[in-house]
Amino acid sequence: MRVNNAFSKITGYSTDDVIGRHPDFLSAAYQESGFIQNLIQVLTTNNQWQGEIWNRRKNGDVFPEWLTVTGVRDEHGNLLNYVGIFSDISEQKAAEREIHELAFYDPLTGLPNRRLLLDRLKQEIAAAKRQHYYGALFFLDLDHFKNLNDSRGHQVGDELLIQVAQRLKSIVRDEDTASRLGGDEFIVMVPGRYPQLAQATRAAVMLAEKILNTINQPFIVQGSEHHFSTSIGVTLFPEIADQPEAVIQQADTAMYRAKESGRNGISFYRPSMQEAADKRLTLEKEIRQALKDEQFVLHYQAQVDDSGQVVSAEALIRWQHPVRGLVSPMEFIPVAEDTQLIVPIGDWVIREACRQIKVWDAQNKPIPHVAVNVSSRQFRQADFVERVKHILLEADVSADRLVIELTEGCVISDIEDTVRKMRDLQDLGVNTSIDDFGIGYSSLSYLKMLPISQLKIDQSFVRDIASDPNDAVIVETIINMAKNLGLHVIAEGVETQEQMNFLRDKGCLNYQGYFTGRPLCPATFESNHG
Ligand code: C2E
Ligand code: MG
Ligand code: MG
Repeated sequence: MRVNNAFSKITGYSTDDVIGRHPDFLSAAYQESGFIQNLIQVLTTNNQWQGEIWNRRKNGDVFPEWLTVTGVRDEHGNLLNYVGIFSDISEQKAAEREIHELAFYDPLTGLPNRRLLLDRLKQEIAAAKRQHYYGALFFLDLDHFKNLNDSRGHQVGDELLIQVAQRLKSIVRDEDTASRLGGDEFIVMVPGRYPQLAQATRAAVMLAEKILNTINQPFIVQGSEHHFSTSIGVTLFPEIADQPEAVIQQADTAMYRAKESGRNGISFYRPSMQEAADKRLTLEKEIRQALKDEQFVLHYQAQVDDSGQVVSAEALIRWQHPVRGLVSPMEFIPVAEDTQLIVPIGDWVIREACRQIKVWDAQNKPIPHVAVNVSSRQFRQADFVERVKHILLEADVSADRLVIELTEGCVISDIEDTVRKMRDLQDLGVNTSIDDFGIGYSSLSYLKMLPISQLKIDQSFVRDIASDPNDAVIVETIINMAKNLGLHVIAEGVETQEQMNFLRDKGCLNYQGYFTGRPLCPATFESNHG
């Protein structure tokens, strides 16, 4: 019915624009559902409503306003019309936001500040305690940052800190917090993710190394290159302390130790964690060296059919350690997986298996197929199939001689990628086998989607096949399922005649295990199975 000048000034609508229209043309439609009903209800009962709403100016801009609507009534109480009085509160809102930013974020780098970190850390400690998980805190201090600040000026120093912040942000996950305490001190917090201390320590070492590596990359500041290193103190929570300040203090203490010792630049608060971390770092270094010095060897375990004929062999890696002797893959494959070293190791395994195929062929003792184990990390490489193809070509080995064993966990971790790669492998002529089958989560619908050639029943079921009726049923079910899907089935870990008889009765005609042969070096394999 009527508007004043202030209305026109705020909204951009003139009197002529609006007279006679329903006021909802102003609405930005940002209000949640039920808002208008609620407003009307309050207005009917109280004759007044007050609150914040979003409206739209004539030029399309949306702005927040503080609105009071009052019903105007005649002397008998009959409603005549409503009067709305509002003020534009966008500036106030912006100021609130800025105060929030200043209070919780570091103005230079935009990272959360100490206050916000403490707040989040408190919550994460509580969550970690509740869920029995371990989280980790990393305290970083750039080495010799002061020199740069003093020699090149604060502007260069600031620029560098901004770049450090960007790098930290780029390597942590969304749920992690990279924060700046002030000066050249940063803290990265990782919420609880691992139920076991050893696992959490291993993951922490990995992230600490990743942080070290990113900071070690040269920085370009105002046209010139700068090299920096950092010292990192690590602690896990809620292991010892559960107050946020105390946890930060631990990481700080560990950081000073890292600075003093200079070793790897990483130090853990607790000696036992340090030990585990050192062991892990040493192992990683040794694996790298082993790859260079060709200390890995492949042993072969026969896979036989029900007539005792060797139809295939599984290649199993061992580490011929100069001091420790033959090291089991269970000890070093997990670390190789964590560190990506599994990729060159995995390539080597396929190459070496192909070489062995050629050797046996040349000796006129051909083994029809050789199976190699492929880790998830390795299989997920974008060019995995290309590499296999390349190795086969280079070794001049026909693709149908090679079998690739993948675990259930690997197969289902990214089903689309798996389907694509398995199809490509199939096109190439390489067969695939699902290793340790039965302990994962494969459902029939997955199996139907995948061009698999073989299921390999996990040894844990085979072990108790004669004594545990549940295992017996599971094994029988797997065998029938494989048959219905037209897949080969093989049992691994067959140690006794009794187990083999049971399997044969149920229709599984391929076996691998100590009963028919242990994993052996090539020479012994030849003399035992040749
Ligand atoms: P896997 O592929 O399931 O290999 C079977 C494991 O069971 C082998 O242990 C083998 O020695 C053992 N085994 C065979 N028959 C019997 C038996 O009758 N009884 C018992 N108790 N055990 C038996 P190994 O060689 O220590 O390998 C362990 C795991 O390490 C393998 O499990 C595989 O996951 C991994 N691995 C081995 N070689 C490689 C490799 O070249 N690359 C990758 N990525 N992983 C590998
Ligand atoms: Mg295997
Ligand atoms: Mg297995």
